[in-house]
Amino acid sequence: MRQFHVIATLAIIAFMFISSFFLFDKQSDDTSIPYEYANAEAPEDFSGDNASEEIIMSYMGNKTQKEELGRATWKFLHTMMARYPETPTRNERKSLYDFMMLFSTLYPCGECATHFNKMITEFPPQTSSRFAASQWLCGMHNKVNERLHKPIFDCSSIESQYPCGCNEPEDE
Ligand SMILES: Cc1cc2nc3c(=O)[nH]c(=O)nc-3n(C[C@H](O)[C@H](O)[C@H](O)COP(=O)(O)OP(=O)(O)OC[C@H]3O[C@@H](n4cnc5c(N)ncnc54)[C@H](O)[C@@H]3O)c2cc1C
Repeated sequence: MRQFHVIATLAIIAFMFISSFFLFDKQSDDTSIPYEYANAEAPEDFSGDNASEEIIMSYMGNKTQKEELGRATWKFLHTMMARYPETPTRNERKSLYDFMMLFSTLYPCGECATHFNKMITEFPPQTSSRFAASQWLCGMHNKVNERLHKPIFDCSSIESQYPCGCNEPEDE
């Protein structure tokens, strides 16, 4: 009889141990990125590869789509420069440089990217300070404006048009 109790106790402990293993395993699955939805088996490691220098997207024929994309993108880019560090570290400077170079190949409007990529090769991103970066982008935007026969923006007023908002209290 005593032997039966010992075996039953051991069986219960083993059952609890195995169930808890499945329980914790399931919880960690729930928080992982569901690769199966992206039809990918595992994240690929591209760390040793060079990025493509080719323009990736095709021609964007729809004028309205091209203009909406342009306005939203300029807003994003000018806001990014307005909040870029005043005195960036070497790594931060490299991040901005790499980002803009990759952006010029990945911009979704292929013909725009072709022009912008040529321009960025001639006038590489200025990354030494917030002022340098925001003035550089303003100049690049003006070059696009010029080509599209749009008004030239006064770059001395860039800070008032795209405020940093860096010292404002959190309201959330
Ligand atoms: C990288 C890039 C390349 C593009 N290339 C092309 C192209 O080749 N062909 C094409 O048809 N379209 C191109 N576009 C889209 C085009 O630049 C416009 O965004 C689009 O035509 C809508 O113009 P918009 O008149 O509303 O003003 P946008 O040029 O979109 O500007 C939005 C607002 O930004 C402000 N602004 C204007 N100039 C400046 C400046 N220099 N600095 C800061 N703020 C400024 C103004 O308040 C303006 O209303 C490109 C967009 C991007 C982001």
